[in-house]
Amino acid sequence: MKVTLDAYSGFCFGVELAVSVAERELGKSKPLYCLGPLVHNEMEVERLTRKGLVVVDHARFAALRDCRVLIRAHGEPPETYRIASENNIELIDATCPVVLSLQQQIGMAFRESSHNQGQIVIFGKKGHAEVAGLNGQTGNTAIILEHPEEAVNLDPSRPVHLFAQTTREPETYSRVQEILKKRSIAVEATDSICRQVSGQSDRLRSFALDHDVILFISGRESSNGRALFETCRQANERTYFISSPGEIDPSWFRNVESTGICGATSTPKWLMKEVADQLESIVSGDVS
Ligand code: SF4
Repeated sequence: MKVTLDAYSGFCFGVELAVSVAERELGKSKPLYCLGPLVHNEMEVERLTRKGLVVVDHARFAALRDCRVLIRAHGEPPETYRIASENNIELIDATCPVVLSLQQQIGMAFRESSHNQGQIVIFGKKGHAEVAGLNGQTGNTAIILEHPEEAVNLDPSRPVHLFAQTTREPETYSRVQEILKKRSIAVEATDSICRQVSGQSDRLRSFALDHDVILFISGRESSNGRALFETCRQANERTYFISSPGEIDPSWFRNVESTGICGATSTPKWLMKEVADQLESIVSGDVS
């Protein structure tokens, strides 16, 4: 059986950057706290935890004093920077440059919206760390839409400045814009979907079609991982979601000629390689 690793799967540059900042800072001194899991991948978080990274939630962060805290690629709202300054916390800021730029654009749009009674609308997942950081730029007043259909509830008498969480699907973001236009709402839509993810669905669809079986590797908490897994599964029903090599079931590969291994923007390459090694040792055994 031929096993192929998808060359385009694996960390996006924002996550790559955050992981390299964490490793560099862990080499200087410990402990290094991280506000939330550095990446939505349990295996990578475990690897960094073994090196001394301590993941804390926002409640624990607020109680810290005189220490160093890493901000992950998703970014944080202004409140986090205020708490750090009050508690003598040195922030190591690994916010992805794409997210940082989006935060700044939303902050600017929010200040402008006070002149025309505008509504700042973010198409994204409620409670997601990136969305919390974006909403923080508006004093938490933005309207968050999780599904395009929710756009029917917006006030038609006020103009909308629309943004999307960076990992949203371009097609569903277009649907939001269509609904607003149909309702004759004045809308300015910022193209805020990250280029690292916008072409990924099409690439993975054709990768999934090219193989008999697909192993899709991702952390279970990754929304990008869930969405891309669905894309692969729709193209190839023999697509299996796994988070670690131990989850491979040998029965998936009977009479299979080719298997493709791919993953999300939060899936480390080293994990993809471990899955490939494990698969090769399985198929060289009793599966043919
Ligand atoms: S998906 Fe894009 S915006 Fe999000 S962390 Fe990666 S590079 Fe940055």
